[in-house]
Amino acid sequence: MNAPKISPISAGSCWSCKAATNGVAFCPNCGKIQPVFAQANYFELFALPRKLGIGMNDLEQEFLQQSWKLHPDNFVNASESEKETSLQRSSKLNDAHRVLRDPVARVEYLLEIEDMRKEGEHKQQAPPELLEEVFELNESLDELRDAKSAGADVTALRSKLKAAQQNFQTKLSEVDAELQTAAKQWDAAQDANAADADKKAIMQHLNELLNRRSYIRNLVDGVEKELSAGALDQPPSDLQRDLPGAGS
Ligand SMILES: [Zn+2]
Repeated sequence: MNAPKISPISAGSCWSCKAATNGVAFCPNCGKIQPVFAQANYFELFALPRKLGIGMNDLEQEFLQQSWKLHPDNFVNASESEKETSLQRSSKLNDAHRVLRDPVARVEYLLEIEDMRKEGEHKQQAPPELLEEVFELNESLDELRDAKSAGADVTALRSKLKAAQQNFQTKLSEVDAELQTAAKQWDAAQDANAADADKKAIMQHLNELLNRRSYIRNLVDGVEKELSAGALDQPPSDLQRDLPGAGS
C-alpha cells in the first residue's frame, strides 16, 4: 500500500525467461535487458508520477545510475539485439533527461502526453495586454532597419530597443513565476486526485502561459538578433591585413 502512485507501465514478460517484467529495463528474474515500450513516457522511465515538481538531485542520480547500467561496456558479450536494445534505451533515457530537467520543456511534455498541446499547433498571437507594446517594438525595429540601410546614426534607436527588450525580459520572468505557481497547482491536484475538469482547467492555464512565454521569448530573441546584427555590420578592417603575422 506504500508503493508510490505511478501510472502503470505497459506490463510485459521477459523475452528470455518469460518472467513478468512490469515494464522495467532489466528482467527482475534473469537480468536481461528488456525492450523499451514505445508508449512508455518520460515520467515512467524515471519511475516518477506525472507531477511537475521534480527533485533535481534525485533526477540526476537516477539518470547516472540508469546510464551506467546501459553503458555499451556492459553489453560487450551480449547479443546484437540486446546491444541494439541498450542503445535504444540509452537514447530514450537521454531524451527523457533533457526534457524533465528543463522546467518549461517538462510542462510542454506533460501537456503533450495529456493531449492538451499538439506540436506545431500553438497560436503565436500577441497576448491582448501586450498588443500596444508589441506594436511599438515593431515600429522601433523598422526604424532601426531603415536607419541602418540609410547609414544613419542608430545609437538612440539601439538604446530604445535595449530598454524595450529589458521590459519584455521582465515580462518573461513574470510568466515564469506564473508557470511555477500553476505547476504547483497541478501537483496539488494530482495529489488530491482532483476531478478531471479541474485538472483540465489547470492544464489550459499552463498551455496559455506556455504560449505567452514562447511569444515573448521570440520577441526578445528577435530584438537581440537585430541588435547584434548591427554590431556585426562594422566594415571589415583593412588594417588587419597589413599587420605583421604572428608566425613570421
Ligand atoms: Zn528474464
